[in-house]
Order: sequence, then structure tokens, then C-alpha cells
Amino acid sequence: MTTTTPTTPAAPVTGVDAIQRHLNMGEMVLVAHLMSLPGDARMSAATALRGRSRADAVRFAHSADLAARNIELFAAVVGSGVVTAEHLDLVWGRLNRQMVTVPLARQEEILGHLDAAVNTHVTPWLRAATAPVSLTELRDRVDEAILDIAPGLAAETAVAEEDSATLRRRGNTFIFTAGCETTSAAIDAGLEKKVRDLLAGLRRERLLLPEEEQTSLPTPSQLKAQILMELLGNTPETMTIRVNLFRATRDGIHGTGAGYVAGVGWVDARTADRFEGAATTVKEIPLDPAEHPESDGYPFLLQDRNYLEGRDATCRFPQCTVPANLCENDHIVNSPATDPTSDGPTSVRNGQKLCRPHHRLKTAGTWTCSTPDDGFTIHWTGPDGRSYTTHATGPLARAWHDTPDDPEPD
Ligand SMILES: [Zn+2]
Repeated sequence: MTTTTPTTPAAPVTGVDAIQRHLNMGEMVLVAHLMSLPGDARMSAATALRGRSRADAVRFAHSADLAARNIELFAAVVGSGVVTAEHLDLVWGRLNRQMVTVPLARQEEILGHLDAAVNTHVTPWLRAATAPVSLTELRDRVDEAILDIAPGLAAETAVAEEDSATLRRRGNTFIFTAGCETTSAAIDAGLEKKVRDLLAGLRRERLLLPEEEQTSLPTPSQLKAQILMELLGNTPETMTIRVNLFRATRDGIHGTGAGYVAGVGWVDARTADRFEGAATTVKEIPLDPAEHPESDGYPFLLQDRNYLEGRDATCRFPQCTVPANLCENDHIVNSPATDPTSDGPTSVRNGQKLCRPHHRLKTAGTWTCSTPDDGFTIHWTGPDGRSYTTHATGPLARAWHDTPDDPEPD
């Protein structure tokens, strides 16, 4: 008996996943090349190879520094196509940021300890990843590793960053960072909300005018600039800033340990204590989605929106990193209030956070989604018929998955 083996022609690279993987692996080839150079030659070589912008070259030089320092991590990702130079730069940044209070002579040693913690907590996860990794989830996992091995160092870094204010320029964009990351993110979120309210007001006013007098609306960036100028100028405006901090509790009243803020990630226990001390409201949030009742109305209640923010951490669209506090609330199965043929309840089990552009794509029906498990997993189908799955990565989702299935009564 004879068998013939059919020959398969080399398949062209098709599909978003495959294309992305190839692009990502190309970046790793460049990182590996830079890594083979002496440390002080990496930046100039990166500039020569990635002359598009200085920021791009810095990203690659940092990636190569990390790769040379932590071979174990680099070996786990170099051929898988699940990470880019942006991912490695992010890990570099989260670790090297902690060096702000460490004397130069001890930095190498401390970084070695932090790298080891990353290899315990993060590298196995990266090695097992089969799809491109979320930047937000990577940041959170690296921060968890740092807080686990060096909570005191993380607290010192937070103190050092508290009193800093920097203004950086990237192209035509100015980036203002004030105090710790939490403060900056809160200012950004406050500004975003104020701009939305202002735009809604301007839109309403415009509708009252005759058509020929309707002028175009300012852009969100113009409004942000206007608000900042007013804040800095002679007519100071007040801006309400709302920050949700999520942390574990032992007694249902007081938080304990590190905390999580959407848009920032993990903050050390001392910073979390300070925020909790300044909070106007402290509430216990049940982890079990079944303990959150459905509501009769269309809009999600405040407690449901807060739960979704803590569960999702970011927009739930594939690869999107917009923080959950800047996202809208979506009914996964449409509510009858917007779609009479549908019967989706207003409940955290049928809710998800989506940034405005991705919420629009879903409302338009370009992308469809469903959940098999009360929103922890979302299956997406795109216009090309391909499927993607995203998982909730916020602290509430992580804590819920860590809860034993049948907790023994004490
Ligand atoms: Zn999004």
C-alpha cells in the first residue's frame, strides 16, 4: 500500500492576528540586534534604524536594555509574536521608575531583584499567551510583582512622584503630569468629563438656532485647552475630580493593602490609605455578579457602573486600552429601550465598559458580541467574520476568579 502526501503551498499571511504576529516578531528581531550591541551604543543604533522619531528609538533602546538584562523574559516572547517593543518598553519603564529613590550604586542589584520577581509572576503568563498581550494587563501584572516583592520601595517611589510636575512634548501634543500618576489620571478624567458636558450644552444651544446660524462646534482638544487656560488664568474654574479606588477589605468597612485605580493601575498601600482617607464615600462591592440585582430603568445605576469599572479596567473591545473610567456603559444584549426586538436587562451581568468609538461600532452592528459568563468573557465577531475573545482584567474580576468555587463557612 502506498500513500501520497499532498504538498501544501506556503500559505500567505492572512487575518489580523497572523499579520500582527509577523509585525511583532519583526520588532523582536530588531530588539535582538540592538541587544547584541554594548549598552551605550544601543540608543545611537536605534536612532539610525528607527529614525522616524526619537520616542520610537528610545522605545527600542529600552527594550534592548531589558532584553539584555532579563534573558528569561525575552526568550519567552521573542518568537511568539504576542508582544511588541512597546510592551518591553512598558516593562522597562515600570521597573526603572522605581529607581528614582535608589542610589546609583545599588540600582543594578535592586533591578536584578525586580527582574526576578517579574520572572516569577509575569514571564510564565507571557510564555503561555497565544494572542497579542494587552498593555494594560501587562502593566498591572508587573506592578503586582513589584508590590509583592518590594512594597516599601513602591511606597517610596509614590512619595517621590507626589511632588513632581512635568511637561513633555510629543509632536504637537503637550503632556502634563502633576503629582503621582493617580492625580494626573484624575485630572485627565475630570477634564474629559467637563469637555463632554460642555459639548453637550453647546450642541443643545446650537439646535435652538436657525440652521443658517449654526456654526461648527469646537473640538474636544480646543475645549480642553480653553478650560486649562481658564484654570491657569484670572478666572479660575473649579473642576470636580472623581476617582474610584478598588481594594480588598477584611471587615467590609476598611480597605487593606494595595489599591487599583482605572487608568493608573495598582497603587501602593500607603497611597491607597491616603485616597481612602480623603474619600467621600466608601462602599463594599460584592464580587459575585449574582448579588447585584437587575434594575428596571435603562441607565445603569451608579453602583453597577462602579462594579463594571472595577471588573473591566479598560474598554472590552479587542486590544483597546482606553481606561474603564473614561468608557461608556454598554448593554451586551441590547436593552428593549433601544431595540424593541431585544430583551437585555440592565444588570452588571449584561453590562460592559466600551470606549465611545467602540460603543458606536457595536451599536452600528459592525461588530457583534456575546458573553457566556456574565460579562467576564466577551466573544466578538468582526466585519470579516473573524472572532476575538477578551477577558475582564480589573481587580474585581481577578479577585472573583481567585474565590474558591465552594467557599467553606468559617
Ligand atoms: Zn475601545
